[in-house]
Amino acid sequence: MSLSRGGGHTEGRTQLPVIRLQSEVVGSGLCAACGTCVAVCPDGCLEFGVETPVYRGGCTGCSACVESCPGKYLPMPDLEHHTFGRHRGDEQDLGVYHSAYVGYAVESGVRETGTSGGVVTALLGALLAEGYVTAVLATTFDTNLPYRPVPVLLRDWHSVQAAAQSKYALTPQLTALRDARPSDRLAVVGLPCQVAGLRKASLAGHLRQEIVLSVGLFCLSSFHLDATRFIVEQVMGLFLDDVTRLEYRHGPFPGSFSVSTRAGERHSMPYSEAKQYLRMFRPYRCIVCFDWSAELADISAGDLWSDPSRHGYTSLLVRTPGGAKALEIAERLEAVRVEPVGRALIVQNPGFYYKKHGNAVFIRDARRYGLPCPTYP
Ligand SMILES: Cc1cc2nc3c(=O)[nH]c(=O)nc-3n(C[C@H](O)[C@H](O)[C@H](O)COP(=O)(O)OP(=O)(O)OC[C@H]3O[C@@H](n4cnc5c(N)ncnc54)[C@H](O)[C@@H]3O)c2cc1C
Ligand code: SF4
Ligand code: SF4
Ligand code: SF4
Repeated sequence: MSLSRGGGHTEGRTQLPVIRLQSEVVGSGLCAACGTCVAVCPDGCLEFGVETPVYRGGCTGCSACVESCPGKYLPMPDLEHHTFGRHRGDEQDLGVYHSAYVGYAVESGVRETGTSGGVVTALLGALLAEGYVTAVLATTFDTNLPYRPVPVLLRDWHSVQAAAQSKYALTPQLTALRDARPSDRLAVVGLPCQVAGLRKASLAGHLRQEIVLSVGLFCLSSFHLDATRFIVEQVMGLFLDDVTRLEYRHGPFPGSFSVSTRAGERHSMPYSEAKQYLRMFRPYRCIVCFDWSAELADISAGDLWSDPSRHGYTSLLVRTPGGAKALEIAERLEAVRVEPVGRALIVQNPGFYYKKHGNAVFIRDARRYGLPCPTYP
């Protein structure tokens, strides 16, 4: 899908900012499908198509989309200063943070349904219960296409619980910001690029919603939806249209890729096996991405692979006073239990090594051969 309309690259005499977005980001393979451009456009000129934004016309040339887009230009020092009031020091590859924890959701059903320890779901539920936020931006599945992840604004515990678990497919998360009410105080769950979109939009003065908390997920990569299609149809031998329910991480950590069908059957394969297929479908933007731990979030969460005695725990990095306050609420309401840990436990994670060392090789090669690359690192 293209942002350009009628095949042309100009409208009138001057080049519209939205055309720059098309040429420098979408057309260069640097679109992260974060949805920021759609969320910030004040005139509703953009909507989300098949894994990229689509221009619908009516652009007034305000530049909000280009100035907020994290696809290509990521001024990390400016964004760090805007978010934390300082630049990173000894934290280096994990970005600015002041404490690290591992933990789990106290309610066993939440912990079992969650991707790792269910902390993200339990934390969001606690913030709603406390009235600290009025709505939560998370990811669920399309009611008509139950294998397709979609972003959603949630206002009650039942829906937040139902939206637990990672969805490993490109999801234009921030587009759901358009559903916020003027009085909303939001918690937003997002991948590193999505959180970067939030911060860039905020720095440029284009964020209209009140975001009181960003919960970043560690991220090696997202995947084209074709990955899910491939596993279901080519590997499992099923029809995607027969799927009534899909889970990428069903059951005890690390879980299994699991689908239920119209015939009432259930099929699954270990997540470790599904991961091999998912990785065949990494978008170009993810290969040249350098942020693993959602370095601009208030609080970041990931799996804990380094300690077999703690499987079913979530890793956490608290980065801001807002993140600390959210965790304090979740602990006080006995929604989560956490313990402080050192950096080593967090970074002994295959995703960290792949991203910070493996992607560094792709980024170096992309620059050497003149291929598109974000400005970070
Ligand atoms: C694409 C992707 C890649 C990841 N890569 C890594 C990795 O390399 N290493 C690692 O340690 N962890 C990774 N994670 C994070 C990990 O899968 C868990 O989300 C994290 O451990 C938190 O677990 P939890 O049990 O506390 O979360 P849960 O309680 O299960 O809550 C997860 C929350 O994330 C939301 N969510 C689900 N999918 C998405 C999505 N695509 N975009 C935005 N929000 C979403 C859900 O709606 C829910 O609110 C990745 C997650 C995703 C979505
Ligand atoms: S803001 Fe996000 S979705 Fe829009 S073009 Fe940039 S990277 Fe793609
Ligand atoms: S955000 Fe502004 S520049 Fe971008 S498409 Fe919308 S009106 Fe045009
Ligand atoms: S690898 Fe980077 S660009 Fe891709 S989904 Fe994760 S944070 Fe976004």
